[in-house]
Amino acid sequence: MSREAYQIPTGSGSGSAPGGGAGAGSGLARPFDPDSVTMAYICGDCGSKFPLRRSDPIRCKECGCRVLYKERTKRMVQFEAR
Ligand SMILES: [Zn+2]
Repeated sequence: MSREAYQIPTGSGSGSAPGGGAGAGSGLARPFDPDSVTMAYICGDCGSKFPLRRSDPIRCKECGCRVLYKERTKRMVQFEAR
């Protein structure tokens, strides 16, 4: 939780069914795809937070700003509107 190294949760719930039923056999075993891993980014302009894949363009989905910050798990940055 409070570690600096963020570990990507692999197969937490979705995808791998416990039990291992051999009945399906649809051959849809997909290996761990790094492109499907999302990271949280924070827009440097409007401050909105959203996940981006590695293959996605670094760009805000709200305002189109290209200055994004990676969200740090250790350090929470809050913007308070005063
Ligand atoms: Zn933005």
